[in-house]
Amino acid sequence: MIDTLDIKVSRTSASRLGKTDFNNLLFGRTFSDHMFEADFEDGEWKNFEIKPYGDIAISPAASALHYGQAIFEGIKAYKQPDGRVGIFRPLRNLERFNISADRMCMPTVPEELFMQSIIQLIDMDRDWVPSKEGQSLYIRPFMFATDAVLGVHASDAYKFVVLTGPAGAYYSKPLRVKIETHYARAVEGGVGYAKTAGNYASSLYPTKQAQKEGFDQLIWTDAKEHAYIEESGTTNVMFVINDTLITPSTRDTILDGVTRHTIIALANAWGMKVEERRVTVEEVITAAKSGTLQEAFGAGTAATIAHISEIGYEGEIYILPNPALRAFSNKALKALNGIRYGLIPDTLGWNYLL
Ligand SMILES: *Cc1c(COP(=O)(O)O)cnc(C)c1O
Repeated sequence: MIDTLDIKVSRTSASRLGKTDFNNLLFGRTFSDHMFEADFEDGEWKNFEIKPYGDIAISPAASALHYGQAIFEGIKAYKQPDGRVGIFRPLRNLERFNISADRMCMPTVPEELFMQSIIQLIDMDRDWVPSKEGQSLYIRPFMFATDAVLGVHASDAYKFVVLTGPAGAYYSKPLRVKIETHYARAVEGGVGYAKTAGNYASSLYPTKQAQKEGFDQLIWTDAKEHAYIEESGTTNVMFVINDTLITPSTRDTILDGVTRHTIIALANAWGMKVEERRVTVEEVITAAKSGTLQEAFGAGTAATIAHISEIGYEGEIYILPNPALRAFSNKALKALNGIRYGLIPDTLGWNYLL
């Protein structure tokens, strides 16, 4: 157990802040001045350090590079009107991080380590939290196996690292998605519910094939029958059919998204009918044909809500109602942004303020 976190701090002598163009931030390419690092060795977390952002030296035999014991999280923090920084629901990410860790035979990270590393890092790089409309600070905690042993085994040693970086306003153009009926993202009994590196590596090829056909993203279906809808790209997927919010229930093939959970909470608070259950491809296509499919969107931290404008299935294209006129998803996006930027009351205590 870690009671207090004694972090060794070495400050950069060459801040990149002045050279960073906050008007042209590309997602995932700009990093704040510092990062956090910790090691798991001999059964415990140690060597807590905040240091200048830079390369990490690891053995070329490090098992993460060969066998993929690697997990990550994505969290955003927002500048509040009073100058404080609000981190959005980080404890849910910690919970999920440890669920991913368990599934990959990796050590869990205590709350103190997860939260203090993020808090102290943000506190030190406070000036990197952008304040323009739509901007945020992206926080990327991750862990990977460092045993220098070429034999398939659960590593004994790990590194836990936290990076942060300013992220620009995310203007997501409505997506054209294809319902995938051959490849699968996740299988029952597999690791779909874990935010682990291999899931993303294996999704690249099918996504690339769909992009060659002119689509932006895939809608993943179950691996057995391709009859049930699971996720869209790297986000959860939601539909509004006959004024009811419908989304696949979480199971071992689905990543339990914080944005998904948040949007469902908002819908419930507004008295909207919500159904979390298995969703068939057939019912979505039938609704699209008959005009009862009012909205379809992806939900995730990066885009928040990514409207789906067209769905491709078995060679047909189904055009959905104009994203700009969709009642629920636009209201949810507005409410969610209002809470995150501290513009409307955070009645459910979602912002962790510092
Ligand atoms: C990260 C992720 C999501 C969205 O989760 P959030 O917590 O809302 O960011 C959904 N699906 C997959 C596959 C993901 O990796």
